[in-house]
Formats: sequence, C-alpha cells, structure tokens
Amino acid sequence: MSAMNKHQMNQELINLEQQNVHDVVDLNLKRSEAELRELDRKHFIHPSTPMKKFAETGPTLIFTKGEGIHLTDTNGQRYIDGLSSLWNVNIGHGRAELGEVAMKQMSTLAFSSTFNSWSHEPAIRLAAEIAKWTPGDLNATFFTSGGSDSNDSAFKTIRHYWMLKGKPEKTKVISRTKSYHGISIGTTSATGIEEFRTFTNSLSPNFHYVESSIEALEAKIEEEGADTIAAFISEPIQGAGGVNIPTENYFKEVRDLCDKHDIIFISDEVITGFGRTGKNFGIEHFGVVPDIITIAKGVTSGYAPLGGMIMSDRLYKDLQDHSQGNYFQGYTYSGHPVGTAVALKNLEVIKEENLIENIRARGEQMLEGFKQIQKENADIINVRGIGLMGAIEFKREVGAEAIGPEIVAEALKRGLILRPIMYENQDTLALAPPFVITEEEMGELLDILNESIKVVQEKSTTEHTFLH
Ligand code: PMP
Repeated sequence: MSAMNKHQMNQELINLEQQNVHDVVDLNLKRSEAELRELDRKHFIHPSTPMKKFAETGPTLIFTKGEGIHLTDTNGQRYIDGLSSLWNVNIGHGRAELGEVAMKQMSTLAFSSTFNSWSHEPAIRLAAEIAKWTPGDLNATFFTSGGSDSNDSAFKTIRHYWMLKGKPEKTKVISRTKSYHGISIGTTSATGIEEFRTFTNSLSPNFHYVESSIEALEAKIEEEGADTIAAFISEPIQGAGGVNIPTENYFKEVRDLCDKHDIIFISDEVITGFGRTGKNFGIEHFGVVPDIITIAKGVTSGYAPLGGMIMSDRLYKDLQDHSQGNYFQGYTYSGHPVGTAVALKNLEVIKEENLIENIRARGEQMLEGFKQIQKENADIINVRGIGLMGAIEFKREVGAEAIGPEIVAEALKRGLILRPIMYENQDTLALAPPFVITEEEMGELLDILNESIKVVQEKSTTEHTFLH
C-alpha cells in the first residue's frame, strides 16, 4: 500500500465525498425515463390533473432543466415557457444568483421562527422592500407560504378586524364570477369559477359572487345588506378565468362603493404583482389604492414558495389599536428565511435589469402579434393583453368542443407551452411569458402560435368538408 501523507489522505476523503454526492445526484438522473414515468404514475398524486387519464398515461412531460424562457424535458426537447410555468417564473429559469442567495441563507440561517415576535433580517428587509413597491400606504406585510394562504389570511384577518370593531355580523366576502383566489376551503369558496366549487360539496359559508359590473356589485350589497359584508376581493386582471381586463372605471366605482359601505377592498395580485402587467401592481392601472394586496408567485419568481398579505397603514394601525389578545394567524413558514432572502434578490433583479420596461415593450409586441393573428382568423372573437399577460379568445357555440386544447397540443409539438382556458364555455388561450423574453424570442413565440392555430383550423375545415 502506498503511503499517503495527511494532505493526500484529506484530499482523497474530499474526492470520495464529492464522488458520493455526485453518485447520489447521478443515481437520480440515471433512472431511465421509463422508470421515472412508472414511479410517477404509481406514487405521485398530481395537482390539477385528470386522475383517470393519468392512471393510464402517467406524466406527459418530465422536465429536467430551465434556462431563460425555456424548459427542457427528458427527451432533450426545448419549449418556450409561454405561461412562465404557473404565471410565476417571472425573471426566467436558471438564474444562478438566486440559487447562490438560497445556498448562503440556508447555510447561515436555514430557519428560525417569526411567531411570538421573533424575527430575522431577510424577512424584515423584504417587508420593508415590499413597502417601496406598493401603491399608497400599503406598507405592512404578513408572510405566508403561497397565494391561497395569503387570501385565507386576508379573509380571517378582516373578519377578526370587524369583530374587534364591534361589527361581528360583517362576515361576508364578495368576489367576481370567473375569479380564482386559491384552493384552500376558504379561497375555493371565494373563487368565482364554478368548476372549482362544485368539485367538493361542502364549502365555507358567507361567500357571494357578482358579475363584473358595478350595478351587479351594488345590487348584491343592497340584497345582502352592507352591515353583513366584510370584504370585496378581486384580481385586477383575472388570470385563470381567462385574462379578463375590467372596464376603465370599474375599480374606481368599486373603491367608492367599498368606502361608502365600510367594505374592505382586497386586490388579489398573486399573478399581477411585481411587474407582470407593466406596473408594479395591476391595480395601479386603475388609479385606486386597495386596503389589502395579496401576493405570492412573482415575489420569488417561483424560486422559493412564499406569499403575503400587505395591509394599508390605516388598517394595520386600527387593527393594532383595537387588538387585545394574540393574532391567531401564522404559518410555520411565515417569513421563511430562504424564501424571503430569495425574494429580495428576485426583486433586485427585476429592478436592476429594468424588466418592467421590457414587459411593456414586449407586451405591446405580443398584443400587436395577436391582432395580426386575429386579422387572418374570423373565429377569433377577441384578443387582449396588458403587459406580459395576454389572451386570444375563439368563438365557441354553447356545448361545442373547444379548439384551444388542440392548438395547445400543436404548439407543444413545435416547442411552445400555452394554457387553454375553457371555463364558462370560453375557448381561450392564455399567455404570460417570462419578463426576460427578447424581441426575437417573442417573434418566435408568435410565429409558433400563429402556425399552430392555422394547422388546427385547416384540419377542422378539412374534417368539416369531408363530413359534408
Ligand atoms: N390568487 C390568484 C389570482 C392566483 O392566480 C392563484 C394561483 N394561480 C392563487 C390566488 C393561489 O395561489 P397558490 O396556488 O400559490 O395557493
């Protein structure tokens, strides 16, 4: 046996250790695609997935890598991530600087509690940073683990607030049809898209829905009685419900009604927060300041799970003044050190790279592209967009099949991921690419989109002709 000095032995140990680390990683990567599919099919219950079909097919795409606006799957195929995954990977994939911040934070202070008035620097700094991004006097943030938690926290906090204010009968929450506010019992109950509510048969009481006109809201307030209504919640631009942009004065009138009737106005900015629409927050397009803004997704660009409920100074102060006991609301991961550190870096990237300017420019290009596509296609009844959030809507007769899913399948073959939206008899394609998309990449996205639409329409015309 050759003699090793101490240094060589140490080096050998380090090599072995590194080899072990790589072995572990490699072992995972070395599983064949077929094996991964089988393990997935057997063991992994997927969110928002048709269960029966999944039992037969298993996963459709297994991603291995993300870079910029692209995702790569196990076959090495690259896709443009046309929806920033779940409207969340806003600064794009593969940003090593966020990984570095996460690693540093994990090795310094991976976790400590923020319950019972304990604190740590990343959460403190993020709460202060968020106050710089928000409109008006929305300056105080309660952190959560995601969007559903943020809206649930708002509902509970507001009901508690009205109890403290001596108005415990103010419990009802009004939301809009086609809205999406989350998946917990409370937020499913607040969600205006009916399919989410009929999925289960026992929801939270005291949630009501209105069409998106001021008359409908006024009538609902009248019908239920303002003294029973705690809050009104709305996305500034509805996302999951079809990228629906309200009329110009809608939120001004909402604000007036809320003021008149002592109703708290919650703006759900889980998708629209931190630049997506070309302004810091979507509600800023409409010139009003809500009482509460809820956030998640874009605050970390999906690099760590994190959400929050941001309150106005007025509301927070009033709550503090009236509060007697404990604030019985808190998630283990409220203000997670890694999540908040990653969020700080994410917001820095958005600012330093002037991404909101890019959102505006690329958003205009996207909408212009949609308009060109519409010119060549009589079945498109509407195109819309605000910043990097857009949609193309096709005509759909009641009860007819939507063509969106077919277009999505064709686009996928050509390397573009889109989302079809079919709630409430719509036939809509939604797009929300990452903020870092370049002019050339947007051009490519639009070309694939156009071609995919044409292919599907030609197919359906041929089938139509054949049938007759
Ligand atoms: N609100 C809105 C507007 C959303 O789009 C979403 C998620 N799509 C949520 C709330 C729920 O967020 P999460 O999935 O993080 O719970």
